[in-house]
Amino acid sequence: MKSMNLLLEAQKIKQDIVQFRRNFHMHPELGMEEYRTVGIIEDTLKSLGIETNRIAGTGLIGLLRGKGSGKTIALRADMDALPISDKKKVSYASKVPGKMHACGHDSHTASLLGAAILLSKYKNKFNGNVKFLFQPAEETVGGALPMIKEGVLKNPEVDAVFGLHVDVDIEVGKIGIRYGKTNAASDMFDVIIYGKSCHGAAPHEGIDAITVGVQVVSALQNFVSRNVDPLDSVVVTIGIFEGGYQRNIIADRVKLSGIIRTLDPNIRKIACDRVKKIILGVTEALGAKANINFTPSYPSLINDNSMTDLVKSVAEELLGKANVIVINKPTMGVEDFAYFLQNVSGSFFKVGVKNKEKGIVQPLHSSLFDIDEDVLPIATAMHTQIALKFLTE
Ligand SMILES: [Zn+2]
Ligand SMILES: [Zn+2]
Repeated sequence: MKSMNLLLEAQKIKQDIVQFRRNFHMHPELGMEEYRTVGIIEDTLKSLGIETNRIAGTGLIGLLRGKGSGKTIALRADMDALPISDKKKVSYASKVPGKMHACGHDSHTASLLGAAILLSKYKNKFNGNVKFLFQPAEETVGGALPMIKEGVLKNPEVDAVFGLHVDVDIEVGKIGIRYGKTNAASDMFDVIIYGKSCHGAAPHEGIDAITVGVQVVSALQNFVSRNVDPLDSVVVTIGIFEGGYQRNIIADRVKLSGIIRTLDPNIRKIACDRVKKIILGVTEALGAKANINFTPSYPSLINDNSMTDLVKSVAEELLGKANVIVINKPTMGVEDFAYFLQNVSGSFFKVGVKNKEKGIVQPLHSSLFDIDEDVLPIATAMHTQIALKFLTE
């Protein structure tokens, strides 16, 4: 199967892929509520003769077997929308008030369905299996980890996993790849600092939770700037600082909520430990008490070098060398595809959707977000060619 032909094959079913995308776009569903979406996916895969299984609530696995035994590749698309009102003036704008596909997951799902259509046509051309992973709730609770816990990478055992995301910083027709650390790990914490209230004119009779909270925030920023190697990346952000009742009352309680973002798994451990120690140490030294609630979230996304080479060679074959960009910086944003990469080697790459002439320049998660739909057959061809190349070489 020549790769240039493959882009042509994907172009031939462009109308189908666009229709899927617009259908999902008009009927967005939030994380763990992707009932309608997964129903359409299930019907489509079944009609192609692909075995399907529901997993992790609203998730779905499709299994396509090739002509003989061999390796197994997994291709993943996320399906969930966001609680944002669609303000675009287009025929396919969201019909559901307050919900919108503003992160492009509709196009991820549509282009993976396109790949399922093509790969089911070519199933006599490869050995091994293709697993299609349709994942819920990337934006909220994260569907990847529950899918893994329910065995998505087993039976048959998955040898490699690939996924993609639309990118408005990249022109349509181009692919962005990245080696190694790509997205940050995220940890969330909520802290309640307990002091003792008294009259604001006699602060020595109480313990001022507000001044303690201020010291905690300041010490946390000192940790980032003074204890972390400047070449390592750590972000500690306090987004909520709440407390107090009245101007002349010493507050007995302050609430702080924040996030920690790191790229390196070792630095992540150190950062989380130090943040806890600083909060407890500072509050204790100032005579207050702290209650910390830590919620670990997505790990850092680390692409495998040889699998990224595979994506690069496929992108070059399909679109030409000039249209493949090596992204030179990681992002401190998160992506739960990272969980798949903790278990199996693989690569997560970007497909360009920007088109200035068509006015497609709005950022992800904006109420005017849109994509250049020319990306859809490209994304389908990328998935298809990656699978064929991985299974036949
Ligand atoms: Zn998003
Ligand atoms: Zn997204």
